[in-house]
Amino acid sequence: MANQEAGKYVWHNGQIIPWENATIHVMSHVVNYGSSVFEGIRCYETKRGSAIFRLPQHIERLFNSGHIYRMNIPYSKDDIIEACKQMVQVNEFKHCYLRPLIFRGFGPFGVDPFPAPIETYVCSWIWGKYLGAEALEQGVDVCVSSWTRIAPNTLPSMAKAGANYMNSQLIKMEAKINGYVEGIALDINGYISEGSGENIFLIKDNVVLTPPLNSTILQGITRDSIIKISRSLGLEVMERAIPREMLYLADEVFFTGTAAEITPIRSVDKVQVGIGKRGPVTKLIQDKFFAIIDEGEDEYGWLTFIENTKAATQTETALS
Ligand code: PMP
Repeated sequence: MANQEAGKYVWHNGQIIPWENATIHVMSHVVNYGSSVFEGIRCYETKRGSAIFRLPQHIERLFNSGHIYRMNIPYSKDDIIEACKQMVQVNEFKHCYLRPLIFRGFGPFGVDPFPAPIETYVCSWIWGKYLGAEALEQGVDVCVSSWTRIAPNTLPSMAKAGANYMNSQLIKMEAKINGYVEGIALDINGYISEGSGENIFLIKDNVVLTPPLNSTILQGITRDSIIKISRSLGLEVMERAIPREMLYLADEVFFTGTAAEITPIRSVDKVQVGIGKRGPVTKLIQDKFFAIIDEGEDEYGWLTFIENTKAATQTETALS
């Protein structure tokens, strides 16, 4: 794929192995029963050097996901934080996407997960803009999914677990087949939940609205960043149940996520949202977000800078 390039090395159970060797048996528990938890993290090439965005928060969520599923992870959070940094360094990436992944591997057959060994990996690759670079300005066309988001006390939405993404895949496939970039799922009560891999925000009369945890969302780290950025910009933020029709009546709507960053939504179900492209409040929030990840202006302490890597601009200056 044009905007993807795999790293040469993968971290597996404390060892650095070639990408090609990061394989598993087809009868592994995870393949049959979906028993994995994972993270998606970005390392940005800021003007001050390469930096991983909110690394400790992502690893905290990874361990929380594992805790919910009674996984005894045989590494500390610091071990996995180090593994993530190492992946950027040994793969000589200036920017990349990081995928810590913990799953139940090959063991005695059967649904009971306990006998299967825990396998821990960190993979990395270059990944361009998820919903397209143009989308960050022009916005995307989306639909409300006919699929309901996973319901409370079925699959826990606070765990970022592989199995949750079967629900996401139903949402994504339906959207794409019908000509949309993405789908928005409603929760079991008919309120807005989230996209297949993104949280959602609405702007109405300069108030920032986003669904609460009870709308079975993943507690997004970008979502948390946007809430904090919005408040520091003096905007009022409300986490509350949002009826579907607010998608059509909002002044602005956008997705947030590690992959999607802040992607404006210009139409929902072919109904134009606001001015039909990125609105002014979205731009204000985006500008602040991009100042952190592009310029490295880190007033929140969200960046973990990686040693031995330099921003391209610095390398170019040194060479000229
Ligand atoms: N919801 C779902 C279902 C997701 O997969 C993601 C991506 N991890 C998000 C929301 C956004 O979370 P984050 O900002 O932590 O990437």
